Amino acid sequence: MNKFYRVLSFAKPYWGFALLNILFNLLTIIFSLFSFALLVPFLNLLFGTEELVTERPAFSFSSDALLGSLNYEISHIISTSGQSQALLFICLVLVTAFFLRNVSRFMASFFMANVRVGAVKDMRNAVYNKILILPLSFYNKNKKGDIMSRITNDVQEVEYSIMNYLEMLVRDPITILAFLFFMLSMSPQLTLFVLIILPVTGYIIGRIGRSLRKTSRAGQVRMAEMLSHIEESISGLRIIKAFNAIGYSDQRFKSQNHLLSKLMIGIYRKRDLSSPMSEFLSSVVIIIVLWFGGQMVLSDNSPISAADFITYIIVFSQIIPPAKTFAQGYYHIQKGIASAERIFEILDAEEVIVEKPNALPLSGFNHKIEYRKVSFRYLKDEVLSEIDLTIEKGKIIALVGESGGGKSTMVDLLPRFYDVTEGSILLDGHDIRDYRIDGLRGLMGIVTQESILFNDTLFNNISFGSNHASREDVIAAAKVANAHDFIMQLEKGYDTTIGDRGSNLSGGQRQRISIARAILKNPPILILDEATSSLDTESERLVQDALAKVMSQRTSIVIAHRLSTIQHADEIIVMQKGQIAERGKHDELLAGNGVYKRLFDLQSFAG
Ligand code: ADP
Ligand code: MG
Repeated sequence: MNKFYRVLSFAKPYWGFALLNILFNLLTIIFSLFSFALLVPFLNLLFGTEELVTERPAFSFSSDALLGSLNYEISHIISTSGQSQALLFICLVLVTAFFLRNVSRFMASFFMANVRVGAVKDMRNAVYNKILILPLSFYNKNKKGDIMSRITNDVQEVEYSIMNYLEMLVRDPITILAFLFFMLSMSPQLTLFVLIILPVTGYIIGRIGRSLRKTSRAGQVRMAEMLSHIEESISGLRIIKAFNAIGYSDQRFKSQNHLLSKLMIGIYRKRDLSSPMSEFLSSVVIIIVLWFGGQMVLSDNSPISAADFITYIIVFSQIIPPAKTFAQGYYHIQKGIASAERIFEILDAEEVIVEKPNALPLSGFNHKIEYRKVSFRYLKDEVLSEIDLTIEKGKIIALVGESGGGKSTMVDLLPRFYDVTEGSILLDGHDIRDYRIDGLRGLMGIVTQESILFNDTLFNNISFGSNHASREDVIAAAKVANAHDFIMQLEKGYDTTIGDRGSNLSGGQRQRISIARAILKNPPILILDEATSSLDTESERLVQDALAKVMSQRTSIVIAHRLSTIQHADEIIVMQKGQIAERGKHDELLAGNGVYKRLFDLQSFAG
């Protein structure tokens, strides 16, 4: 149940609205009781058993006092204006009471909307923020579709299942208690029966609720799997079509969907059991009360009049709807908690890459970066072992070597996308884990092989992360990146929206936008991870040219597939199976006649 309190804690900031909601719910209850109380004199009037009350009773907050003063008013009207006037009076008061009761009910829901929507909004914000903070390693373990499903479907489920019933949690117990109290003051004996039956009913309802939570969780997991499948299919549509795999994908989806439907049928059946079951249980209680109360009324010296008994039964029957919604709400909340658990799993996921409490601020890069005996593993296998490397300010370092050798991993450690498993990386003499994370990442501009663009305008893609960039700055950066000319040829220029992940641009164009973005950030350290590998020769020349301009006066780490592009690097590091196989300048390495020479010969031959 503490999961439930945690969901509630999201509603805490909206306690003012919650209070208003409770207030109006209380008013609703008062008006309801008032209208039921009016039934007694009404029935007495019909049965002709009305005893005229001639003395105004003392005022107090009890059902007796309320009934007493009503009786007094009605007696007064009967004696002065006759019975049908009294009937009219009762009906008018009843209409007013029902009107006020329903106005209060609406006002209660009116304020509840703020609470539920606000809480769900905050929850969604919290999950999204956490998604941004979580380390990349989190996403190696969890599917994108599953995470998306949690932030959409599960949050929605929490809104429908929990927030929908929050109000009832306060309202219904108060209603039930108030009605019971009213009944107690009318007939203690009869009310005793009701009190004995209620816990039994509660127990039966609770048992089914627990099994519902389990099934619901399984349902949400299935739903997430399907979303993953859809997400993968849309991004891989080209391959699905090319490999004639439409039938296969379709079949896989259908079988997942089938399993989900089977689960959902179970969920609905269990949930839908709550209402008929509680209705049946409560009718049984009512019938017992009817039987017992009826006998009381029939007996000679009855402690309860017929009119009182009918009113009692009417009030009691009014307990059933709140008791029913309460039971139903309990089921829905169980279903919602299954979803809340999945949301909390994200909120509680370990951040791994954390900032020290008194982290050092970082304003610039002055001397050097040092890798000291750096080892790293993603999972079991060591991907980097005992790497020692020093990168002096202003130098260009190239990383080359076979694919899978650990080059990308080497540079991913620098902005702390991952933390080293052993050893340390120092920047100007301090471990990078001692610095503030945003300060560290602020020093670096990163261009990767796969350019990451967003479905937004070109202007916003280039100025991404540089909050106050002016139009002139953006254009200047685009010019350096050789992107300005092609941007100006587009219909809307810098205001062109580039489609999902920049799908409306060619690979070379996308890459030049990424470079413009890195240039605008103007970082002292530039990391290029195969920035030109996926380009054709003409685009590569343009991009290479752009990169040459950016690299001057900066410290650069360049991972290159084509060795021709890094011949002028200050030091070339040849990586092999997570270790440095060779290092030196281009000419020295060629003369050394080792791994580098072999790679170089292969490429000259191919090229
Ligand atoms: P390179 O960039 O030199 O091609 P990488 O640094 O990308 O090499 O990869 C080095 C090794 O680490 C490879 O064996 C690869 O399978 C493994 N690897 C890379 N990324 C991950 C990851 N996110 N999770 C697990 N293993 C990974
Ligand atoms: Mg790589």
